[in-house]
Amino acid sequence: MAQLRLNALDDVLHRKPKHMEDPGERVSEYFGRNTFHIRIMREYLSEKAYKSVKSAIENGTQVSREIADQVATSMKDWAVTKGAAHYTHWFQPLTGTTAEKHDGFFKPIGPGEAIERFEGNVLVQQEPDASSFPNGGIRNTFEARGYTAWDPSSPAFVIGKTLCIPTIFIAYTGEALDHKMPLLKALHKVEDAALAVCQYFDKNVKKVGTTLGWEQEYFLVDSALFNARPDIMLTGRAVFGHAPAKGQQLDDHYFGSIPERATAFMREFEYESHLLGIPVTTRHNEVAPNQFECAPMFEEVNIANDHNLLLMDVMEKVARKHNFRVLLHEKPFAGLNGSGKHNNWSLSTDTGVNLLQPGKNPKSNLQFLTFLVNTIVAINDNADVLRASIASAGNDHRLGANEAPPAIISVFIGSQLTQMLDNLEKNIKHGKMTPESKTELKLDIGKIPELLLDNTDRNRTSPFAFTGNKFEFRAVGSTANCGHPMMVLNTIVAKQLIDFKKSVDARIQKGVKKDEAILKELQKLIIQSKKIRFEGNGYGEEWVEEAKKRGLSNLKDTPRALDVWAKKETKKLFADMGILTSVELEARHEIELENYVMKIQIEARIMGDLAKNHIIPSSIEYQNKVIQNIKGLIEVLGDKEGKKMAKTQLLIVKSISKHINKLNDLVNEMVEDRKAANLIVDNKEKAFAYCDKVKSYFDEIRYHADKLELQVDDEMWPLPKLREMLFTK
Ligand code: ADP
Ligand code: MG
Repeated sequence: MAQLRLNALDDVLHRKPKHMEDPGERVSEYFGRNTFHIRIMREYLSEKAYKSVKSAIENGTQVSREIADQVATSMKDWAVTKGAAHYTHWFQPLTGTTAEKHDGFFKPIGPGEAIERFEGNVLVQQEPDASSFPNGGIRNTFEARGYTAWDPSSPAFVIGKTLCIPTIFIAYTGEALDHKMPLLKALHKVEDAALAVCQYFDKNVKKVGTTLGWEQEYFLVDSALFNARPDIMLTGRAVFGHAPAKGQQLDDHYFGSIPERATAFMREFEYESHLLGIPVTTRHNEVAPNQFECAPMFEEVNIANDHNLLLMDVMEKVARKHNFRVLLHEKPFAGLNGSGKHNNWSLSTDTGVNLLQPGKNPKSNLQFLTFLVNTIVAINDNADVLRASIASAGNDHRLGANEAPPAIISVFIGSQLTQMLDNLEKNIKHGKMTPESKTELKLDIGKIPELLLDNTDRNRTSPFAFTGNKFEFRAVGSTANCGHPMMVLNTIVAKQLIDFKKSVDARIQKGVKKDEAILKELQKLIIQSKKIRFEGNGYGEEWVEEAKKRGLSNLKDTPRALDVWAKKETKKLFADMGILTSVELEARHEIELENYVMKIQIEARIMGDLAKNHIIPSSIEYQNKVIQNIKGLIEVLGDKEGKKMAKTQLLIVKSISKHINKLNDLVNEMVEDRKAANLIVDNKEKAFAYCDKVKSYFDEIRYHADKLELQVDDEMWPLPKLREMLFTK
C-alpha cells in the first residue's frame, strides 16, 4: 500500500554506526556502499543495459522501456542485498525540502504467496498525490496531475530499508513542479554553449561539465533545550532572547576545538554520508558559538545538489541520536552570525581543463579570460534575477547585516585580474590591430599566473567572488535548495556564452581573425560590465551609496526581490533558453510569495503566543513577588522608610509594567495588521503587507520581551536563554 511520508530516513535512527563496531574499516572501503553507482551497475546489468544507462548519464539520452525493466530488476536485487524492502521516488518539490512516496517491493500473487517485484514502469514513472505539493495554480489551471520520473544521472541509494530513486516532478501537461527539472535543462544549456565556445580554443573538447562545491553552515542545539523553545521548534529561529553576555566578540570560536559531543555527531553523520557517496571532507567551527560547517569535494552540479539535500536530511536524523537538533535556518540567533551555503561553481572539459583556472600559455589564458569575462557579464546583465534566486524570509535577516554579503549583487575578481581587464580595455586598439600589438597583448595575457588562489581569496564581503579557479556565490542561504540559484546562474551564463559566440562569429565573418575577434568582443564586454565589479568592502555604508550611483539594485527583502520574475525580459530570457515557460515562472513566483507569507505568519503567531502565554504571565508573577516584598518592607519599616528602602523594587515594578503594556499593545496591533493582511487575496499584495506591516513590529516586540528577560528572576523565566542554548557542550 502506498504511503506518503515526508521522512524516510527514520531507520537511520535505529542503526548502530558500523564504524563504531568495526573501527578498522577505511573510508575508501565503504564510500558509496549504499548507492547504485555506475561501477555496481556494470556488475548487475547486461552489457547493453549498462551502455544505455551510461549514455543516459553522460549524454542525457533516453532509456528504453525494455532496458528500464532490466535496470529496475537489477536495482531491486541490489537493494534487497542492502536490506531494502521498500522503494520511493525521491524528489524536490517547491516547498524547499525533499519528498518521498513509499511503496513495498512485496507483491501478493495468490493466497499465502508473495514475491519481491519492481518493474521498469515504476522505476521510470510514478504518480505521487501531487495535490499536497505547491504548484502555484498550474494544476488548477490545467486540471492536470503530477508525476515523478527517474533521473538516471543521479545514482539511486538505500537508506534504512528504503531504496530511494532520484526523480524529477512534473505536471501531466509537462510543467516542472520541482527544482530538479529546470536545473537539468539549464545544465544542458550551459554545457552546450560552453562547448561551442571551447571550440575556438581546442577542437578536442567534446564535452563540458558544470561543477558545484557547497559549504553548509549550521548550528547544533541540545534537544531538551530545543524542545523547550516553541519558536525554534516551529520556525527554526529564536524570535526572542537577549544576546548572551559572551557572544562571538572574542573570535575564539572560529576554527576552535570542536566539543566532544559535536565531534561524535559529526563522525557519525560523515560516516552515513560516505555510505551514500557524499564526499564530505572538512569540518571546523564557524564564527558563532555552536556553529559549524561542512563541505564536500565538488561534484557535477546535479549530483552535488542531490547530495546537499540528502546531507541536510541525514544530519537532522543523526543529530537526534546524539540529543542534538540541527538548525539550518539562516539566522537562528539575533546578534550572532547567521548561516549560509556558499556555492562554489565552475565549468570543466572532458580534456581535464577547469575553464575558470588560468592556464600555462597565452592561448589557454585567453580561454580562461573568455569564460571569466562572460560570467561577469552574465551577472551584470541579470543581477536582479540572481538576487531573486536566493530570496527567502530567512535569508532576508542575513543579507546586508554585516556578516554576509549585502543584498546588492556585485562581482569580486581580485587586484591582478582587475589590472588585466583594465589593460585589455585600454590596450585593444580600435580599428585593425597590428601584429605587434596582438603579440604584446598575448604576452600580457600569458602572464596571468596559473595559481591565483592566494591573491583572490582575501575579500570575504563579496556576494559573488572569483576565488582562483572558480566563482563562489556566497549569498545563498543555508536552508536553500542550491538547485534554484544554480539553475539561474547556469541559465544566464549559457545565454551570455551563446550571445558571445554569435558576436565573435559575426566579426569573423566580416574577415577579422579569430583571436582579434575574441579580444575585441572581450573588450566590449569588459566595458559593458564594469559597474558590477567591486573590489572594496561590501559591508560598508559607502558601498550602498556607490552602488546606488552605479545604478545597481539593493533589494532588501524577499517580496521586492521576487518582483523580477514578473518582468517581460525575465520571462523572455527563461522561455528563449527553454528552461521555464512564463506559466512555470509565474507559478514559481506565486509559490515563493506564498512560502514567504507562511513563514512570516507563523513567526508572528508564535511571537504573540509566547508574549501572551509565557512572557507576560511570568513577568506578572515576578512583579507580584516584588510587590509583596515592597509591602513587607513598608509593613516592617513604616511608610516613609519602607518606600525609601524599596527604591529599586519600585523601579522594577514600574519598569515591568511599562514593558508588559508595550508588549501587549504591540502584539495586539500586529494581530490587527495580520488579520487585515489575511483578507488580501492577491499573493503579491499580501506578501508586501506581511513584509511592510506585520514584520515591522517584530523588532520592537522583541525589544520589550528581551528587556523583561533581563529583569525577571532567572528561576521564573519560562524559556531557555540563548546563553544556555549556545554554550552547552
Ligand atoms: P572557503 O575558504 O570559502 O571556506 P573551502 O576551502 O571551505 O573555502 O571550500 C572551497 C570549496 O570549493 C569546496 O567545497 C570545494 O569542493 C570547492 N571547489 C574547489 N574547486 C572547485 C571547482 N572547480 N568547482 C566547484 N567547486 C570547487
Ligand atoms: Mg566559502
